[in-house]
Amino acid sequence: MSLKGKTAIITGSNSGIGLGVARELARAGADVVLNSFTDRDEDHALAQEIAAEFRVAARYIRADMSRADQCRALIEQAGACDILVNNAGIQHVCPIDEFPIDKWDAIIAINLTSAFHTTAVALPMMRKTGWGRIVNIASAHGLTASPYKSAYVAAKHGIVGLSKTTALETAGQGITCNAICPGYVLTPLVEAQIPDTMKKYDMDRDEVIRKVMLERQPSKEFATVEQLGGTAVFLCSDAAAQITGTTISVDGGWTAL
Ligand code: NAD
Repeated sequence: MSLKGKTAIITGSNSGIGLGVARELARAGADVVLNSFTDRDEDHALAQEIAAEFRVAARYIRADMSRADQCRALIEQAGACDILVNNAGIQHVCPIDEFPIDKWDAIIAINLTSAFHTTAVALPMMRKTGWGRIVNIASAHGLTASPYKSAYVAAKHGIVGLSKTTALETAGQGITCNAICPGYVLTPLVEAQIPDTMKKYDMDRDEVIRKVMLERQPSKEFATVEQLGGTAVFLCSDAAAQITGTTISVDGGWTAL
């Protein structure tokens, strides 16, 4: 499968799943645009490393996905968008009656509304070339719920719905839109929670992973960023040309329970 000549924009891709997806798309030959809200040397260095390793064009564009104007400017500044991966996301865990309003607003803006804005600007570009792939990184929480994650679960269910509507509005135009629903993935964000959880429950690392983190993931194994990147590459392939408006779970069986 070669994605040579295609430009992929991946939001929130200076770490974790977004970076993993960007690397796998580049491995498949796509030129990539990395993004986050920071503008550090190491952000730009990530793009240079990908360019050197996979011999593709790669650059980093700063844009804050909580801001409508910056979401739209990201796509415009990239200049081309054959593949759009809406991945940027944050989390906050708190009961509904105590949930801070600013956290609710930020989660809905970054995890859901940003995808509306980027999609709106990318679609006319994709229609011009008659080819496009939109991959929304949802979550097992786009299909099922957990307590204390109201904003996250609402945003992730929302992005599954947005994916279906986008698919219907682009059907028959060479464009597909789907949502990937990961279970627990061992990103730097998740890794950083392990030491505190070990202390909190007086458990060793293995117990924390199996009994706390992967409690709802029957495989008792994390999904990896490479597996998620591979799933995104598959959705960009010709084999997936008729897969649109659906979800693909990469969750070790979580949503089969
Ligand atoms: P992460 O924190 O490593 O990555 C989040 C990315 O979003 C980072 O690059 C961060 O810089 C970026 N980001 C945050 N706020 C932003 C903003 N305002 N503007 C632009 N970029 C911003 O976490 P991750 O685990 O890789 O999460 C990536 C996506 O995968 C998220 O949408 C998350 O909900 C989803 N997800 C993660 C897991 C998991 O277990 N790690 C499971 C299911 C879904």
